[in-house]
Amino acid sequence: MEDNVYVNNIVGSSTGSGRAEDSSAEKSSAATGKAERRNTVNRGEEDSRAEDRLRNVTSLYPEELEKELMAEGYPKFRAKQLFQWIHARQTEEPSQMTNLPKNLRERLTPFFPVVREVTCQTSKKDGTRKYLFAMQDGEMIESVWMPYEHGNSVCISSQAGCGMGCTFCASAIGGFHRNLTAGEMAGQVYGILRDTGKRVDNIVVMGTGEPMQNYDQLIRFIRLISHEEGYGLSVRSITVSTCGIVPRIRQFAGEGLPVTLALSLHAVTDEERRRTMPVARTYGIEETLDACSCYFEQTGRRVTVEYALIRDENDTERHANALSALLRDRGFHVNLIPVNPVMERGMRPGTRNSQENFKKILEKNHINVTIRRGMGSDIDAACGQLRRKFAGSEKE
Ligand code: SAH
Repeated sequence: MEDNVYVNNIVGSSTGSGRAEDSSAEKSSAATGKAERRNTVNRGEEDSRAEDRLRNVTSLYPEELEKELMAEGYPKFRAKQLFQWIHARQTEEPSQMTNLPKNLRERLTPFFPVVREVTCQTSKKDGTRKYLFAMQDGEMIESVWMPYEHGNSVCISSQAGCGMGCTFCASAIGGFHRNLTAGEMAGQVYGILRDTGKRVDNIVVMGTGEPMQNYDQLIRFIRLISHEEGYGLSVRSITVSTCGIVPRIRQFAGEGLPVTLALSLHAVTDEERRRTMPVARTYGIEETLDACSCYFEQTGRRVTVEYALIRDENDTERHANALSALLRDRGFHVNLIPVNPVMERGMRPGTRNSQENFKKILEKNHINVTIRRGMGSDIDAACGQLRRKFAGSEKE
């Protein structure tokens, strides 16, 4: 099951033919302070379904919002106004949606804010900000803001917790909690936009969670954040990182979305990869890289391979040569990441020298490679660390 109960009630993508515009219904309902409702025997059930859909109001496309608002007795044009408040102006307070009628604002109030900022740490070294957001059901997620010279990046989470179980990752420790809705993914970006007041130029879906296990909401998020009536970010400015769910990578290639794909590889043999990444028990390295090559061919977007350098485990000369052989002629870019030490894990990055040496071997083999500048190391910027620390301090 890809979507959990929380998001099951998001309506399909049909444009819907709903009722004709009915401004008199809106006017009369405004006068009584209540939106007009249909009088049916199943009203209780229908109301609770409507509640569920409104709970997901920030995950809906404009045409879906039209259908919802028309079912509640509002005219069609209210949908466009609401969509713009949510996605173009990033408003989390229905009371501030001043061109909407008061009764609609009141109706929406219980469903906002979708994500609420709990705490934020700012790195003194490089200005990176790490946010902890709480969702309506109390789940906590992390997001990171990284100011770079060439533009500001936001790293968002796609799930609360993660079920992939990679041994080096802090997100894996508490296991999987639930999928995020598209609106909750966008809400992280909008929360950061409101806080920093600065443009977001790039989004990386590289926080907690495995985005390919929340596929439908991921696609919806990409379409919403790039929607021309909303924030309008170019799809080319989005990167999605996966541990390698092969059928989903192939499906993703066919979506017509020029997103950059990043593959978390971190090992050079299936046997070694199985030791740190349980997903390797299901998909071998060759078939995973082949799916990535297929992604590159179909989208024209160069694939990035992420490789966390863990001292003595995967950072020797043998590993560098084997990695070069695996990637030969694929045209991928390699991002070497000195492993971020996570207290519970006991893994260490190699020396600066060994990292440079690893990079040189790849270069000698004509592999395009960079070492990722470690950002926010003074603020637990590795995924899952802040959330764990906060959960721990709450328990104390
Ligand atoms: N599930 C997705 C996205 C989330 S993890 C994926 O696996 O790609 C984002 C990236 O951070 C992945 O490349 C992951 O392997 C890496 N990562 C996790 N823990 C890390 C650590 N302690 N040090 C360095 N990179 C880490």
